[in-house]
This record gives sequence, C-alpha cells and structure tokens, in this order.
Amino acid sequence: MMNDDQLLRYSRQIMLPEFDYDGQQALLDASVLIVGVGGLGSPVAMYLAAAGVGHLVLVDDDVVDFSNLQRQIVHAEDTVDQAKVHSAAASITRLNSDIEITCIQQRLSGEVMSQQVASADVVVDCSDNQNTRSALNEACWQTKTPLVSGAAIRFEGQLSVFDARQEASPCYACLHHQVGNLDATCAANGVISPIVGVIGAMQALETVKLLAGVGDSPVGKLMMFDGLTAVWRSFGLPKLAHCQVCGGIE
Ligand SMILES: [Zn+2]
Repeated sequence: MMNDDQLLRYSRQIMLPEFDYDGQQALLDASVLIVGVGGLGSPVAMYLAAAGVGHLVLVDDDVVDFSNLQRQIVHAEDTVDQAKVHSAAASITRLNSDIEITCIQQRLSGEVMSQQVASADVVVDCSDNQNTRSALNEACWQTKTPLVSGAAIRFEGQLSVFDARQEASPCYACLHHQVGNLDATCAANGVISPIVGVIGAMQALETVKLLAGVGDSPVGKLMMFDGLTAVWRSFGLPKLAHCQVCGGIE
C-alpha cells in the first residue's frame, strides 16, 4: 500500500487511466539494472528514480571525469574523480530518498552479470562497448529479461527493445549483425549534449511502460533519431535466421 506522501508524489502518474494505482505500485515493486552511468545512464537513472522505480542497480567501473559533465547530468563538479556509481547514487537520493540503490563499481561479466540480470525486471543497456552489450544480451536471453537498448553518438541516436519473453523478438545480436558495429564511443567521436538526453529519456519511458504493462514496446523495430534534422525513423528489425543467441526462425 502506498502512503500519503507516495500518493501525492506520484499523483500525476496515478491519474493516468491506463497507468493508474496499479502501474505505480508495479514501479515501486520493480528492480531495474542500469548498465553504464554515463550520458545515457544519467537520464535513465534520474527519470526512473523520479518516477518511483523502487530499486535501481547501478553498474559502472569508471570515475567521473571533468569532460563527462558536458552530457552526464547525474554527476556534478563536486563529484569529479569519484566513482560514477556513488556520484549517481548521491544525486538520485537527493531526488527521491525512497529509492533503494545498489552500486556495483565494476564491469559486469560471467556469473555476477547472470545473477544481476536474473534478479532484474528490466535491464537498461547504457554501456558504450560491444563486449558488454553482447554479454548483456546473452544474459537477458538466458533469463528471459527484457532489454532496453540505446546508443548515441555525434548528433544521432538509436533505440530498440528486445524482449526474450516474445518468441518473435529479435535480439541485440540480430541488430548487430544487420546494422554493423555500433561500438563508437563519444570520447572518440564526439556527441552533442542533449542527444544522450533524448535517447536516455526514451529508454526510461520504455522501461516504465514495460514495468507497468502499458502501451507497445518497439520490439522488432529499430528507432533512429537524427538530431540535425529532428527526424525519427523506425525500421523493421527482423529476427535473424539461425541467430546464435535468440535462436531465430528457419
Ligand atoms: Zn538474435
């Protein structure tokens, strides 16, 4: 049961007919694994905390660098050189002290990754490297955990949801095989600040929808945003035949 503070804090969501009290309760009961607390992970963590997701698990092995502040808005000048997970946890606690936060200051792999993915209701991929993305994808498929994937670089961003609970859903490996290597880092290529906010906010929205069971997720779709023209495009993303991860159709 929500208390009076919670009913007031989340009233603008609870008043949405398709979301309602049950949607809010689902968020409060949920645990979300956020892998990467940088440009994408910042808005994801902040919006999920503000929206009332009860437990956030933050994963990042890095420390805050002065050059991160241009886009990684969960961090601030007074947390430069601190671990990103602790810097983010402090910001989130200021925003919503009800949220339980678990900080993991390492790169997830092996058994630790499997355990973390298995105990999450939704996994949000905010990482910037191919190894992590691929390993997360495999772990999500093994545990049938929905994966909200985002990427942003230069003036461009992309978004998709992979849902192993749906037989027809492609996976990240299907995307990677068809679209190519997306392992370009902002550090090497540059990125305009708000583009990570656009994509990260979309990831947070899709996560909330999955948790509350409202709306339709872009499963089987790749959504691409061109910030220079302000145009979203949506492409069909078929399941790859004989995909080694999601076991594509014949
Ligand atoms: Zn696949």
